[in-house]
Amino acid sequence: MQTYDLVILGGGPGGYPLAVRMARKGWQVAIVDAADEFGGTCLNWGCIPTKALLASARNYHQLKNAADFGLSCSEAGFDWQKIQERKRRITVQLRQGIIKLLEKSGVKIFNGRGQLCKNRLIRVTSNEDGSVSEIQAKKICLAVGSVPAAPGVFPTDREIFWTSNEALNADNVPESLLVVGGGVIGIELGQVFAEFGSKVCIVEMMPQILPGLDNATAKRLLPVFKKAGLEILVGKRVESLVEKNGKAVATIDGGEREFDKVLIAVGRRVNMSFMQDSDLQLETEKGFIRIDENFMTSEPDVYAIGDAVKGPMLAHKASYDAMILVEQWQGKKVAADYSLVPSCVYTHPEIAWVGLSEDQLKERQIEYKTGRSMFSANGKALTAGEGDGQIKTLLSPDGKLLGAVIWGPEASNIINEATMMSQFGIDSHAFGMMIHPHPTLSEAFMESIENATGEGVHG
Ligand code: NAD
Repeated sequence: MQTYDLVILGGGPGGYPLAVRMARKGWQVAIVDAADEFGGTCLNWGCIPTKALLASARNYHQLKNAADFGLSCSEAGFDWQKIQERKRRITVQLRQGIIKLLEKSGVKIFNGRGQLCKNRLIRVTSNEDGSVSEIQAKKICLAVGSVPAAPGVFPTDREIFWTSNEALNADNVPESLLVVGGGVIGIELGQVFAEFGSKVCIVEMMPQILPGLDNATAKRLLPVFKKAGLEILVGKRVESLVEKNGKAVATIDGGEREFDKVLIAVGRRVNMSFMQDSDLQLETEKGFIRIDENFMTSEPDVYAIGDAVKGPMLAHKASYDAMILVEQWQGKKVAADYSLVPSCVYTHPEIAWVGLSEDQLKERQIEYKTGRSMFSANGKALTAGEGDGQIKTLLSPDGKLLGAVIWGPEASNIINEATMMSQFGIDSHAFGMMIHPHPTLSEAFMESIENATGEGVHG
């Protein structure tokens, strides 16, 4: 039986960077992934395929509105199969890149389901031929990710009642779609199908969409999404959901409505398939694998990172966990700090936020000043036909950034300015002295910072 310094379960954005980093330091590393498509949720059933579909949706929108740019286009159309093919090509290209990278770094890849057993033994059932092999590890890292949560109250016929996995691989665009849950998945995929012609209704049980987003922005976005063709009901429950004659019948607010398909997007849960029939017990905490500040689980030398452990379920958080773990294994005294994990929603308009929200500042009675800027006053945004949106920055009395929320063009890129400013403690005056190229969207962020302190020219 082969012994490795490190065996990682899961080849997503937590597992594969950890494998590469440790292999480069001379460790013997193996990575085990149960899926036929290597690369984890982000690459295969999450971030990347969703962004590919959103890009097609956005370009289709632009095509339909070509006249806004003085262009003409006789008939805007789309081919759903080709959109899906494009999405697949992108994931294949990225997957091949990751596999090459792992191979070049000397990481051994096992394609099969890994089962965690006692004494740091991993039993792998091969996807190819069902054979079982055992590998011994000095250290194990569980980077097993998460799967869609589909509570038992919802029907399980995945032909009609989709999770994000089925929605991403849909054969065609349904005429009508009910989305249960107004979180990131619900809003992003809801927008894709609405843009291609589905009548989409999103039902969110909480008083606002997008948990974690500041309440005022969430409220402000409702008419924006309505204009984009999404019907969004907040503070409402889907009271019952049944199949009738091949359609879904939902009771919402006492009234019955019929839909072709339903997307259940009510969160995700840890993928615990590696524990199936195991002779080991791992402690959990609120549905996550319990870890200490060094990512160690209740089992010595078995570590866990990413979606499987506490903190936001985001690809970049998993990669960050991997990076901290590498530092810790090199003897550095560092701990994970999730106070500056940016959240991004890749709809049109994009939405991004980082740090503390205005709601949290009020709740914690932290003193702050607010800076705002509008994309309607930004030259680059207007020339791109992207004048909708705004930036709100929240600063301490001494000019340090406490939090920021952006909705509008390239919000997911601009938010990096906020994270950098907060992480490195740059004050508003020093930040204003940093030369931003003109014209750029990032100037709007600088304006917002300067407006908080009254130093802005246009504020
Ligand atoms: P989520 O937790 O973001 O949102 C789920 C929503 O469903 C919540 O607003 C919740 O109140 C609502 N809900 C729960 N039960 C409900 C019910 N019975 N009826 C109506 N509403 C109900 O979960 P998600 O959107 O499924 O996403 C899962 C995870 O994947 C999240 O952690 C998310 O951050 C991550 N993700 C991130 C991105 C991104 O970064 N762009 C994209 C997709 C997913």
